[in-house]
Amino acid sequence: MNATALVCPRPGCGGRASLEETVYVCPSCGGNLQVDYDYDAIRAGWKRDSLRDDRDLTIWRYAPLYPVRARIEGLPIGWTPLVPAPRLAAALGLEGRELLLKDDGRNPSASFKDRASAIALVRAREQGHDLVTGASTGNAASSTAVLAAAMGIRTRIFIPKAAPRAKVAQLLAFGAELLAVDGTYDQAFDLCLAATARYGWYNRNTGYNPFTREGKKSVSFEICEQLDWQAPDLVVVPVGDGNIISGVWKGLTDLHRIGFIERLPRLLAVQAEHSDAVVRALEREDGAIEAVSGDTVADSISVSLPRDGEAAVRAVRESRGLGVRVADHEILAAIPEVARGAGVFGEPAGVTAYAGLKKAATDGLLDPGWRRIVLLVTGNGLKDVASVIKVTGEPRVIPPDPAALEEIFDSQS
Ligand SMILES: *Cc1c(COP(=O)(O)O)cnc(C)c1O
Ligand SMILES: [Zn+2]
Repeated sequence: MNATALVCPRPGCGGRASLEETVYVCPSCGGNLQVDYDYDAIRAGWKRDSLRDDRDLTIWRYAPLYPVRARIEGLPIGWTPLVPAPRLAAALGLEGRELLLKDDGRNPSASFKDRASAIALVRAREQGHDLVTGASTGNAASSTAVLAAAMGIRTRIFIPKAAPRAKVAQLLAFGAELLAVDGTYDQAFDLCLAATARYGWYNRNTGYNPFTREGKKSVSFEICEQLDWQAPDLVVVPVGDGNIISGVWKGLTDLHRIGFIERLPRLLAVQAEHSDAVVRALEREDGAIEAVSGDTVADSISVSLPRDGEAAVRAVRESRGLGVRVADHEILAAIPEVARGAGVFGEPAGVTAYAGLKKAATDGLLDPGWRRIVLLVTGNGLKDVASVIKVTGEPRVIPPDPAALEEIFDSQS
């Protein structure tokens, strides 16, 4: 294994922890930790060419860059399609540029979160835990339950009571012991931390467990390899806690450090307008995160206090990227637009990157030199059909009678 330690990325802190221990946050300052690697060893021992003949089309093909030794056999996690979307590009006035959608709703639990759960659950087992807990708006939870079921690990999960029904159904079907908290995601998160402190269950919480980012970074490995190691100019990411976008950046900088890609893309962070703590922080000189209401129809990015907000702000700034916010009606409108324009079905948070790219295009924020744009579709539309119906409306109901057809279609032809 090439991972060496857990280090604190806060400037001036210098906190560290050994990978031998089950440590979550910085022992010095309490901030989020980052996994460090022996990049020289990876660079010396691993070449892009060795991937060409590797028939393992899952996240595990990048094993030298993970902080675990084992893997999950069976369920195919990752290597999701990168779908060209020329008609969407044209609709956004981006003719001549390349727009690609990374369809992560195709993972085993139908969301991006499987990338994170995979590494966190293997880590849990390697630390000798057979019971994992987590708090989530829904997808991290259902992902944990699905992969844990495949591994024979037990789960105790906290979700806000209002989580979409499909996510609740997934959790129950896969055998999670489910606690629906009569409160917000942020409250469920704190309750889950209290449970870990009291009972010692292994905790997978986003922006607390340093291993989730190590799984999320796999999306960048795939994007770059699928583009034959020509990194895109811009990667568009929906942001809630900020762990996906910090993972995307970790993956890109990992590849850059080992010489697999020559240059780094910029990041465009997209948030819902009342769940915009990271975008607000980007607008402030000091980049400080402050709590917001967190209200949005996109439940997966409905966050008052982003748990990985600091790292998200650092990632966007280091990439010389930008942030935009979008209204709920723009998010909902993006669902049928992406479905009809590219054949990809996303839940509200899943199409938020598209809504944000549209906003950035309309506001003239996209540099003409950004020729190749990748946007993440992070969750499948079947995860939250109630939100889809809000924008599509209900179908027309007709009697089982040919006369009804005549009434509708005879006048049309
Ligand atoms: C979790 C999630 C996000 C946001 O990820 P963060 O790490 O919280 O920023 C976006 N979309 C979907 C579908 C998600 O499940
Ligand atoms: Zn620290």
